[in-house]
Amino acid sequence: MGVLRTLALLVLLISFLTLVLLFGQLPRLRKTPIGKVYRLLRYRLPALLSSIDRIICSSRLTPFLIRGGAYLVNEPHPLVICFYLTLVTGGIYVFLSSGWSFLSPLQKGIVSLVSPLPYISMYLASTSDPGVITPSNHTAALDMYPYDHTIFFPPPNTPPCRSCHLQKPARSKHCSICKACVAKQDHHCIWINNCVGLANIRWFILFLISTDVLLLVGMLLCWGILDFVLRQSGIEIAGLSWNEYIRLLGLAVVEQVSIGAIFLLCALCGILSFTFTGYHIYLIWAGTTSNETTKWDEWKEDIKAGIIYLGELEEEGEEEREHGSVPGEHWPRKQRQWLYRIAAAGRTDMLPQIRGVVWQKVEGLAEVDNIYDCGGWANFRDVLWPGKLE
Ligand SMILES: [Zn+2]
Ligand SMILES: [Zn+2]
Repeated sequence: MGVLRTLALLVLLISFLTLVLLFGQLPRLRKTPIGKVYRLLRYRLPALLSSIDRIICSSRLTPFLIRGGAYLVNEPHPLVICFYLTLVTGGIYVFLSSGWSFLSPLQKGIVSLVSPLPYISMYLASTSDPGVITPSNHTAALDMYPYDHTIFFPPPNTPPCRSCHLQKPARSKHCSICKACVAKQDHHCIWINNCVGLANIRWFILFLISTDVLLLVGMLLCWGILDFVLRQSGIEIAGLSWNEYIRLLGLAVVEQVSIGAIFLLCALCGILSFTFTGYHIYLIWAGTTSNETTKWDEWKEDIKAGIIYLGELEEEGEEEREHGSVPGEHWPRKQRQWLYRIAAAGRTDMLPQIRGVVWQKVEGLAEVDNIYDCGGWANFRDVLWPGKLE
């Protein structure tokens, strides 16, 4: 059981570090252990290493550490892909060599069908264009979504991208790792060494789901094998409580260590993978992205401070527009609300006086309309069949 415990701890540690790397910088997690460990790894650990280097090696190692750290954090590299592929390939190999003979023909068919999926979906997600904005598709990217004047603002409120020198389309973001502006950028994913954006988020979701399916099938089949081994040993299982059953299952693990290890690996990685898939499915259903969630969180802080007011725009107040003159005019939803941030709580005299607009203090983010949310199914359609950047 010693090996199993070490493996379980290792997988738990890797899962936690992955969570920290992915979500550590989110404002809502700032005060949680995930946010604290993120700050520790991102700022305090490099500072500590630098101090040690100054004392022991007269700062000779620091430039290498900085260069290595910058490469790992700011440059595209396949290290995490290699780690993922090693884990999946190693796991499948160990399972097949120890568990194949226990499987029924139907189970063998399922394993043959499910095993290649993570490789295919990873290839699609990591090699596909996430929706890089170039001078030739910039007009199409601008026309894709309207500015909501809440989390995305047109010029002059938002300056052009400092690297690409192009006006930033609504929902886009410049990725410092891909060194490009990406349409409807969700986040840069280290697991696929690529940005997740307008054009490849469906492959990314497929990648997550195929990993989930592989882990679920692996876990169920390993459990089935351990259960079979237990029954073969002549132990009467009927009438046992769950606690007793799990304790006895531990005995079967001693007999089938590899299967036990794969079961644990699938179960622990599954927690991370299912959580991550669920989170992304929820974001799609809510008509938002990881990047936009961070922007909404910034409003949340100010709403809590009581300095955000909301004004509703009158329906008939919309001005006539010349066709093709406004970005995102084909988008089914238009902005009807304006948010205004006052300098201090209670200073309502600072609110602009606009005819027909009554300002109301915002008590929660649920009161604010997200124009990129067209309803669950329509949001999924926009992800599965996105507009073309041509
Ligand atoms: Zn850019
Ligand atoms: Zn990127």
